[in-house]
Amino acid sequence: KELTDINTLVGEYLNLAYQSFKSKNKEIEIELISDLDPSIPKIELIRADIGKVLLNILNNAFYAVGAGHALSLQPMVTVSTRLREGSPIGAGGSNGKWIQISIYDNGPGIPDAIKDKIFQPFFTTKPTGQGTGLGLSLSYDIVKAHGGSIKVLSNENEGLPEGKAGTEFSIELPLLI
Ligand code: ADP
Ligand code: MG
Repeated sequence: KELTDINTLVGEYLNLAYQSFKSKNKEIEIELISDLDPSIPKIELIRADIGKVLLNILNNAFYAVGAGHALSLQPMVTVSTRLREGSPIGAGGSNGKWIQISIYDNGPGIPDAIKDKIFQPFFTTKPTGQGTGLGLSLSYDIVKAHGGSIKVLSNENEGLPEGKAGTEFSIELPLLI
């Protein structure tokens, strides 16, 4: 594990995912918003692994706003980081602090019928060659190995504030000092 500035890591992977999307989809303009909490201290983590998690979730977000999305909407991807205290990760011997990294896209959302399958290995709704169905399953395992969890809020406005359709994944990591 390495002591890591989470905001720098998030910024790097946002750039990487955005450039990779742009190189394949030159005509789609995506609005990027990043809202990073400067009060977050450095955190011990396996940088390459958490990097994979960020890239998986960001790639999914760009895919969601890119491929076949209703063009009447300005495609948007938002990342935010927050230092949190108390539940849900506060219990169990840590100092009660945790970091939340949220990645939101205003794509079509995740239908209720598949919401409980997306973390299963090999589950994908993408055409052959475009998805392995392993991204979220691997991400889940990595975050769990860091003592954290991944939450998903999606569409038909369920769980998201009024008028905010789309999908939001939150990676929650305990901050152990
Ligand atoms: P893959 O991207 O290879 O399909 P993942 O494990 O990353 O595999 O994701 C599994 C499935 O979860 C996707 O095929 C898609 O149906 C759904 N999904 C994940 N992220 C999003 C998102 N941001 N918007 C809509 N659907 C999503
Ligand atoms: Mg994926």
